[in-house]
Amino acid sequence: MNIGNIGTVGIVGAGSMGAGIAQAAAQAGLKVKVVDVGDAAWARARKTIAKSLERMVAKEKITGEQMKEALELLSFSTDVGTLAGVPFVFEAVFEDIGVKKEIFGKLDAVCGDDTVYATNTSSIAITEMASLVKRPARFVGMHFFNPVPMMRLVEVIPAMQTEKAVTDLALAMAVKLGKTPITCKDTPGFVVNRLLIPYILDAVRLLEAGVASAEDIDTAMKLGAGMPMGPFELMDFTGVEISHLVGEIFYGYTKEARFASPGLLRNMVSAGYLGRKTGRGFYDYSEKK
Ligand code: NAD
Repeated sequence: MNIGNIGTVGIVGAGSMGAGIAQAAAQAGLKVKVVDVGDAAWARARKTIAKSLERMVAKEKITGEQMKEALELLSFSTDVGTLAGVPFVFEAVFEDIGVKKEIFGKLDAVCGDDTVYATNTSSIAITEMASLVKRPARFVGMHFFNPVPMMRLVEVIPAMQTEKAVTDLALAMAVKLGKTPITCKDTPGFVVNRLLIPYILDAVRLLEAGVASAEDIDTAMKLGAGMPMGPFELMDFTGVEISHLVGEIFYGYTKEARFASPGLLRNMVSAGYLGRKTGRGFYDYSEKK
């Protein structure tokens, strides 16, 4: 199979990542069949995609006609069976091995021998996931970044069982979707999170030790290291619990102390101070502020 023969892709999971991948694929001219558990998820995803495309039209990055064409390429179902015959399927459901296992069981029942499965997991080992499917040689990791329409990187991660031709196809798919791929071994955090998570956790350790305030650490990293956001702004934006949970998962795999979540982060999660979405994280987002 080569990239030129792929006219349709499937996407299971229409959350933040699934919607973003669907948009990128539709903009690349591919037919996109999306599956999620309920119509509400699709209504949300479609609205997000339409808004994102509208912003692109307003900025004259695409034309109104291109937006219309992209939207027409998207279809939705709650039935995994609609993905029968689709040659390339992205998996972007919750980060829960049980949910993913159930999805791959359903996909295995309907997909052909040649179908490639590309998982977007951030923290589950690709080789472990490949071992869940009938044809592990056709399984690969494709780790996109949030928000997908803005972020240009895709990490392509072959499992121990992945055929080289499948890795090459995943690299070509990333390029087709307008992204720049890198390849990386199946290792906790791949490249970006392997570097980013210890950096974020170290920022919390600096705060815990009273070295500087959250504001000053953020200012230091923005003005001194050219980061677009400081580590505390980033945690509040993505959800404080994500850094904690991902750190703990990587710690479980590696037993390296740099991945262990510091006590302050653990306590913030227990207190429900999860960042922007709860009105309080390292910063206060309450209305009076
Ligand atoms: P999300 O919670 O926004 O979306 C998950 C979607 O999966 C939801 O719409 C949910 O309804 C759907 N879903 C759950 N069970 C399902 C089932 N049985 N069948 C069909 N659909 C089902 O999650 P997300 O942030 O988009 O993350 C998805 C994947 O992408 C995870 O593996 C995550 O680790 C990875 N990821 C996330 C980010 C990020 O920043 N959010 C970045 C890179 C990778």
